[in-house]
Amino acid sequence: MQTSTAQVRQDPSRYRVLTGDRPTGPLHLGHYFGTLQNRVELQQLGVELFLVIPDYQALTDRDTADRPAELAEEIVLDYLAAGVDPEHATIFTHSAVPALNQLLLPFLSLVSVAELHRNPTVKDEIAHSRQSSVSGLMLTYPVHQAADILFCKANLVPVGQDQLPHLETARTIARRFNDRYGAAVFPTPEALLSAAPMLLGTDGGKMSKSRGNAITLGADEDRTARLIRGAKTDTERRIGYDPEQRPEVSNLVLLAALCEGRSPQEVAEEVGDGGSAALKRRATEAVNEYFRPIRTRRAELAADRSHLRAVLRAGNERANAEADATLAEVREVMGMR
Ligand code: ATP
Ligand code: MG
Repeated sequence: MQTSTAQVRQDPSRYRVLTGDRPTGPLHLGHYFGTLQNRVELQQLGVELFLVIPDYQALTDRDTADRPAELAEEIVLDYLAAGVDPEHATIFTHSAVPALNQLLLPFLSLVSVAELHRNPTVKDEIAHSRQSSVSGLMLTYPVHQAADILFCKANLVPVGQDQLPHLETARTIARRFNDRYGAAVFPTPEALLSAAPMLLGTDGGKMSKSRGNAITLGADEDRTARLIRGAKTDTERRIGYDPEQRPEVSNLVLLAALCEGRSPQEVAEEVGDGGSAALKRRATEAVNEYFRPIRTRRAELAADRSHLRAVLRAGNERANAEADATLAEVREVMGMR
């Protein structure tokens, strides 16, 4: 069920990728090195990209979506600044594509309640949820994700380990739908497993857009310096790369290394006995240097809101055309013409 990057390279035009980001905050360096950079590479290889901004899914773990339209525009900005080409990628929001959401109904009929309860990632999210009770949307969002993937018949989904159970749900739904209605409507999507390391935030936890511990793509150089200066480290003077024993120090080493295109061991060796202060200066400089062109482009794009909206409008139109066609096919095979 997994496809490797090497396989994609052999025949990029065979693949259509669906991925995206909830509009719960601006994207950060973890997103960039974890997924964004890879999406741009896939696009450059000639893989077709569908990028969903799942605004309805912002509601899985909170009561109301905070400024969903505004945050969706910020994400479009991050995509374009990172190098996504809207001429070749379809960027759209959930809420603007009704036929996609309608697929949820037949799809829900294909999974059992027990299966929904068994999803380990959903269990974990429920355990960490700040909400007083678990909503039906939380329990069923992997089915909604299946609709995101299958409405455009994507056959490749870039995922981290934690997303594998969701992809399994999408694969199950695709197979069951085809079996039940005796028609090959949906492909069985494959995982493109990310090899990217997880970046930690300034508090030592996973860098996350909703935890206030992130360095965002759009942060300016002074803010980046301040955030890195305030990042948690340890008191050992000699800098080393040991993610198990010294996660916070190793995270800054890794960040500098990713930006400089060097190995973390080399960077640690060079900072040597400089201690945390020298490491932080090195990481700050590396981040600001690497992201300077991306941030400049982001600032230019941010000045033209009408362009951003036009990009989303065009993406929504393309996504609607796909979703309408798929829903028509689904209704046809279900005898609901
Ligand atoms: P939210 O707070 O809304 O859950 P988040 O910042 O935790 O947002 P996700 O939406 O959970 O981000 O992450 C989407 C994808 O981005 C992940 O599957 C992963 O590939 C990548 N990603 C997110 N955070 C990191 C990180 N800290 N390091 C590496 N990759 C990351
Ligand atoms: Mg998250």
